[in-house]
This record gives sequence, structure tokens and C-alpha cells, in this order.
Amino acid sequence: MDTPSIRSVLADGEVGARVTIEGWLRSARHSKGLSFLDVTDGSSMAGLQVVAPGELDNYDPEVRGLGTGAAVRVRGELVESPGKGQRVELRAQELEVVGDAADDYPLQKKRHSFEYLRTIAHLRPRTNTLAAVFRVRNVAARAIHRFFQERGFVWLHTPILTGADAEGAGELFEIEGGEAFFGRPTRLTVSGQLEAEIGALALRNVYAFGPTFRAENSNTSRHLAEFWMVEPEMAFCDLRGDTELAEAFLREVLTAILEECGEDMAFFDERIEKGVVASLEHIVKTPFEHMTYTEAVQRLEQSGEDFEHLVSWGADLQSEHERWLTETLVQKPLVVTDYPSAIKAFYMYANDDGRTVRAMDVLVPRIGEIVGGSQREHRHDVLAEKMKAQGLDLEEYGWYLELRRFGSVPHAGFGLGFERLVQFATGMANIRDVIPFPRVPGYAEF
Ligand code: ATP
Ligand code: MN
Repeated sequence: MDTPSIRSVLADGEVGARVTIEGWLRSARHSKGLSFLDVTDGSSMAGLQVVAPGELDNYDPEVRGLGTGAAVRVRGELVESPGKGQRVELRAQELEVVGDAADDYPLQKKRHSFEYLRTIAHLRPRTNTLAAVFRVRNVAARAIHRFFQERGFVWLHTPILTGADAEGAGELFEIEGGEAFFGRPTRLTVSGQLEAEIGALALRNVYAFGPTFRAENSNTSRHLAEFWMVEPEMAFCDLRGDTELAEAFLREVLTAILEECGEDMAFFDERIEKGVVASLEHIVKTPFEHMTYTEAVQRLEQSGEDFEHLVSWGADLQSEHERWLTETLVQKPLVVTDYPSAIKAFYMYANDDGRTVRAMDVLVPRIGEIVGGSQREHRHDVLAEKMKAQGLDLEEYGWYLELRRFGSVPHAGFGLGFERLVQFATGMANIRDVIPFPRVPGYAEF
């Protein structure tokens, strides 16, 4: 804990300084009486080159026998590095093998497929790519909290075990024994929104940020059974204020990633998704495009594209439609608003046309929907009518309706899938590779 990170040694370590570092060997090359060890501690993409001379007491056989994956503590002197791409290297004066690695360590120098790496989720954070993903994830989470905290939003800790049901949000994981224990059916939350509304109607601006669960059997590259969701909710706010927040939010978080994860983003740009940095830089400085659902459907119908799913007013936009709109038509993030009420949840504010609601989705290239939000129905009678029409049990939602009787105000919010954001920022193709321990149909190991 008191030894400096390799990141800080690489950045600030002065030639001639004596330092001690700790980390794992990413590679080891032993020549006659001299060993070159690439040591990383996960703090940066670049490792520190350690040169271990044959004069070390334990050189033969200990240091000379070190292989990839072993953990070491090295004390030595920083010297100018003759190698290119690195300013300094560490000339070892003492090298302690803290934990040797057996010969069958699976992460040898060669590249492994992401599919294979998922089967060794206990070791994959040691790869360059996954370590970079988790660092970006961390910076994104910090930027999210900072964004809201600087604007006075209160982080509301919404429950994971819930008796409420954000109707229509997705399939539910029921809690076995929930009925016996709580006296009512309970499930894993699909969204913190309904609780966030409670918070907003007292604290004005709040946000939830935590795990949510969906038992949907969708084996896609953009769906997880457990994922993190960011859900701001604002009182005295309409759909316009909501989309403004979403736009400012995405811009700020992506900017933070570009500024604070330069080394990792350069890696993603080179190895994972060519041009990802330029595309993010473009996105953070260009205003998003806006269009109603009705207009989006017209554009899709006129596109001349041969979509797999038919486009027609009243049907939900499929991923292929979303991607065409944002990637091909406008070539930037697109906010689609005013969806048909029939395809959206009951709590969305009904427009005067009687057939659309004040919903908005933010669509981005490569991903499609990244944010889904709405102005909420705050008019008691309109809400009650709609719930009845949809066959919902008004008793079940008693508290939700009651909020509309005591100082109800226009309010709005959105949900952003945190992993989709990380996927978008890094260019990673599969959402399973941007969360440390993915849960998907048929798989919950680790
Ligand atoms: P989709 O149509 O893509 O399945 P949705 O409309 O069901 O998403 P919402 O209920 O609007 O999703 O959830 C809000 C946000 O949460 C979405 O915009 C998306 O970013 C994210 N999200 C939804 N479902 C998942 C999932 N299974 N895995 C990861 N992120 C998800
Ligand atoms: Mn949605």
C-alpha cells in the first residue's frame, strides 16, 4: 500500500531515484545473467520494465525461473531506458518473489479470444483490454457522480429487493420465498425509477445508480441479466429539460473519459475499434439531433433500406432501425421523442393528440438505444384511467397514485444503461466484456 503505483513511477519517477514497486509479470525474458521483466500492477496500460542482473542473491534459480503471472516486489534504481516508448526502467537491487505462478498460467503473451477470457473471469482483469475496460468504467462512474453532485442532485439508494414493479420495463426475477418472508411477492428490481420519483417529489433532483435485473432471454451483444443503471429524476421538469440533461450528461461523461483515460482510449482506438476516439471527440462537441418518433418512422419508410423487421407507425423501433437512424441518417446521437403510448410504459405523460406520450430515447452509433426516458404522468385522473385501461391493479400502485394527490408536479427522468455507455466509449463489441462478472442466460459463473 505504501509503494507507489507503477503509473506514478512511469509518469513522475526521476532518473536516479530509488523506488520499490509491486506487481505481476506480464512477460519475462531471461538471457545469460540478465532478466527483463515487464511488470504491471493494473494502474496503467504501460508496464514498468525491470532489469534484473545476475548479481542478485536469488538470481539463480529464483529470478531466472520467473514466468508470466508471478507476483514480485522490486527495489532498485530508476535509470534512463534505452528502449523506445518508455522513459525509465528499474534496475533491480532486490527482487522478492511474493507469489510464484505455475507454468500453466493461461495468459501467456499470445492474444486470446474474448469468449475464452469469459471462461477465466478470475484472471481476465489481468489482460490489457479488460484492465483498461475496468479503469474506464471506474472513471465513468466517478464522472457520473461528479456530474450530478455538482448540480445538487441527491444520490438516492433505491432498493434491489422490491415489491414494486416498473411495469413494462422487462421480465422479472421473482424472489423464491419472498411471499413467505415479506408477506408479498418480491423481485429483483428492473429499475429504480418509481422510487426515484418519490425522491424527486421531496428532494427535487435525485439520481439512482446501482444494479438492476432483467430476466429477458435476449442473447444479444447489448443485453445483460444484471446491469447497472443511472436514473436521474427531476421535479418541476418537462421532457425538454429531461433531454437537455441527458445531452449534457453524455457529453460530460464522455469528455471525462477522453481526458482522463488517454492511454487506455488510445489502446481501444488502435486495437478494438478504429476511430473510436475521433468519433467521441466529434460527439462531445456536436449538438444532438432531435426528431419525433413519427418523423423517424417516415424517414425509415423512405430509406429504401431492406430491413429485417417491418417499419410501421405504432411498432417499436428495432435495433437495426435505431442504428440506421443514428449511424446513417444523422451520423450523430439522435433523440427520438413522442412515441406511441401503446408501446411505452403506463407512467409516461400523455400528449394532447391522444396517441403519443412524452417519451424520449437517445440513440447512438454502434449501440442504438443508450438512454430511455420520459416526462411522467403527474395528473392523477389521467394516470388512474390509463392504469385501469392497461389492467393494472390500482391497489398495488396505491402509493404511486397517491403521490399525484399531494403536491403533484410535472417531473421527468431517464435511465441510462451504464454498460452500454462503457461499451460505446470503448468500442467493445460485446456488453459481456465491459462488466467484471457478466450474467446472461445460462451463465452466472464467478
Ligand atoms: P432495449 O430496448 O435496448 O432492450 P429497453 O427499452 O428495454 O432497452 P429501458 O427499460 O428503457 O430499456 O432501460 C433504460 C436503459 O437501460 C436502456 O436505454 C439501456 O441503456 C439499458 N438497458 C436496458 N436493458 C438492458 C439490458 N438487458 N442490459 C444492459 N442494459 C440495458
Ligand atoms: Mn427503453
